[in-house]
Amino acid sequence: MSYRPEFETSGGGLLIGGVPIDRLAQRVGSTPFFAYDRARLTARVAQLRAALPDDLELSYAVKANPMPALVQHLSGIVDALDVASGAELTVALDTPMQPGVISFAGPGKSLVELTQAIAAGVIIELESETEARRAIRIGESVGLRPRVAIRVNPDFTVKGSGMKMGGGAQQFGVDSENVPALLRELEAADVEFMGFHVFAGSQNLFTEILLEAQAKTVDLLLRLAGEASAPVTYLNMGGGLGIPYYAQDRPLDLGAVGANLEHLMRERIRPALPDAHVVMELGRYIVGECGVYVTRVVDRKVSRGKTFLVVDGGMHHQMAASGNFGQVIRRNYPMAVGARLDVAAEDAESVQVVGCLCTPLDLLGDGVLLPPADIDDLLVLFQAGAYGLTASPTAFLSHPAPAEVLV
Ligand SMILES: *Cc1c(COP(=O)(O)O)cnc(C)c1O
Repeated sequence: MSYRPEFETSGGGLLIGGVPIDRLAQRVGSTPFFAYDRARLTARVAQLRAALPDDLELSYAVKANPMPALVQHLSGIVDALDVASGAELTVALDTPMQPGVISFAGPGKSLVELTQAIAAGVIIELESETEARRAIRIGESVGLRPRVAIRVNPDFTVKGSGMKMGGGAQQFGVDSENVPALLRELEAADVEFMGFHVFAGSQNLFTEILLEAQAKTVDLLLRLAGEASAPVTYLNMGGGLGIPYYAQDRPLDLGAVGANLEHLMRERIRPALPDAHVVMELGRYIVGECGVYVTRVVDRKVSRGKTFLVVDGGMHHQMAASGNFGQVIRRNYPMAVGARLDVAAEDAESVQVVGCLCTPLDLLGDGVLLPPADIDDLLVLFQAGAYGLTASPTAFLSHPAPAEVLV
């Protein structure tokens, strides 16, 4: 059985934002759809706040889920937003969040995006020397001082990340050994130098490895801060906290992560930089468990001994659940029949849950144990709040886009 987050139920059926799933489907008017639970988002941020140091600022990485209503909700409860494109920047600027605390990371920012970011006064996380020079030039031409931080490609890797984004050769950031030279260039230019950003990887579920990575990140950041002649007012330590998806996955020990950061803050960061904004940026950990993808069974058929549930959604909306265009070892994301979360194991049957795309890749559940489901039943995929709709090939097979609701 896959890991399944605890959701409230009523009469055995799933509640999202207090609304029974079948009622919610009527309210949305069509399936499939994504639903994000506002109260769960709030609770998740509160849980993080309770565990993390009081003077560690929490930034939401909009890339994980850029739905405007959701970003709007989070903007009221986190300290900052991190964006990775001009369009995400627009979503962030539409919220009440002050532009000065919005950061813009990501390689290959276009001239238009850099100009937008400089005009808005957000923090530009420079991914290369070329990008630094472009930002300087644009600042001169529009008559504004760009606010910049250097994204650093660390001299260590973080093992255990689902996706490595730092260490070794990378398209992300400036290699740490080249940072001092870039600092000299920035000092000679008309920019406001803020500080540094390290983001070494995503989806890490290994608490011990994360603790070690955080300590190494702090070492590196403080070493580089010592190289800067301007005061460092901004240190972004990344995040990369993962969430469980598969049967063998266990949630992170958030208490241990918080205690480690508290220690690093008191013993290392604050003695050196008493007033700097120290930021942790998280996407998946904040939104991943707060969302579900809801589909309806449109066919039930048996083929040579296997039962198939064909649903009206699929990999075009929630690609990660299908195994990302043929992942080497495909595992099932947690899922359930929406009206019967509490069915006893002995009643369950093993089924193939497939989407409506004409490709064998559109497999959402392979031998999943579910209570017997029939045509018109709602199937719910959990852990769908992060990297769902916007990280899926929605144009593939030309089906309509699904609805998204914040409940
Ligand atoms: C993708 C990304 C994040 C968010 O990562 P999660 O694993 O979703 O927390 C944060 N920062 C940067 C720079 C990113 O590229």
